[in-house]
Amino acid sequence: MSSSVIVNVDDNAATRYHRARILTAAGFKVLDAATGSETLALVENNSPDLVLLDVHLPDVEGTEVCRRIRAMESGTSIIVVQISASAVAATQATKSLDNGADAYLAEPVDPDVLVATVRAMLRLRNAEKALSLANEKLEAVNKELEQFAFAASHDIQEPLRTITSLLQLLDQQIADRLDDRQKMFFGYVMDAATRMRNLVQAILGYSQIGRGDSPALRPVNLNSIYANVLENLRDQIMESKAVIDLKGQLPEVWGDPSQFSQLLQNLLTNAMKYSRPEEPPKIHITADREDSGLWRISVHDNGIGMETRYLDQIFVPFKRLHGPEIPGTGIGLAYCRRIVEICGGRIWAESELGRGSAFIFTLKSAAKPVAIHE
Ligand code: ADP
Repeated sequence: MSSSVIVNVDDNAATRYHRARILTAAGFKVLDAATGSETLALVENNSPDLVLLDVHLPDVEGTEVCRRIRAMESGTSIIVVQISASAVAATQATKSLDNGADAYLAEPVDPDVLVATVRAMLRLRNAEKALSLANEKLEAVNKELEQFAFAASHDIQEPLRTITSLLQLLDQQIADRLDDRQKMFFGYVMDAATRMRNLVQAILGYSQIGRGDSPALRPVNLNSIYANVLENLRDQIMESKAVIDLKGQLPEVWGDPSQFSQLLQNLLTNAMKYSRPEEPPKIHITADREDSGLWRISVHDNGIGMETRYLDQIFVPFKRLHGPEIPGTGIGLAYCRRIVEICGGRIWAESELGRGSAFIFTLKSAAKPVAIHE
């Protein structure tokens, strides 16, 4: 920290000299500026750690200098501490901080307070830097893991395909020579191979969401997606005698149509799959606009429900609350969460055992332009 560079700005030569002495004695490297334009040139050429900025300057006002520093490429990581006369302190402090200053000091500034404030601000910035570095590392590790999951599940598919097709061939050739026990074992092997194939495909699908080669987000009308999903699920809806009811219309939101189709399909399939045996599934879908402008879409069912304490865990890959009597890979909800989060939304569940479940997610409206993170 002792080698941190500080730009010391004041149009009054005596004050500037006095502060420069205090800061140099505290071990900082100090660059002096008397005007706004001098300050901006120094900042541009030296990328200082901190700018100690007098509000009243002869050419450009201090708050404006601060705004221009923030607009520079490296400007957001530079700390700006503004200083002005105590007579205007309260209003000026608000104005300075609102305009992007990190801290504000009123004259006369005690030398110890000045040094302590500068040190505290630099500590804060170093902590911020360390945090963003750690985040970058975490992201890199996550990407690597995703690539690994993708490559592994992709490569496992090939030998698995060989195993299943050879098993089928073997079944055709030797089925009539097997006794009942052998037939049962053979059936187990076939089932296990099919389960494994489904799992590997689910992992492959999951690791592909949000990869660089997936399509960019765009406005999507959920009504047509919903109509297609109902069509895809027609057999399952008829078989389970499910009644699905959409209140009003679904909105237009930011995202990827094929991913939204998967999202709705997973939630509706679950709502039918985890139904109570004595009652056909009744599913309600609603869409409401939140105060924040996001759309909140819910899928309610009257099914078997879940214990409230497990509600966070079900979005983790392979987490299942029910046994093999209800088939599944345990990856459907993890998939849903990934899809929603890539679009800048959130998904959660509300439920009680035996009392149905609701899956609720938020998505950005496509009705007006919105900033979408990459
Ligand atoms: P899968 O259905 O393949 O097991 P999911 O990731 O879709 O995997 O769901 C994870 C678990 O959450 C399920 O195994 C089930 O226990 C529970 N679950 C999901 N949806 C519902 C629902 N609508 N009602 C009750 N339980 C559900």
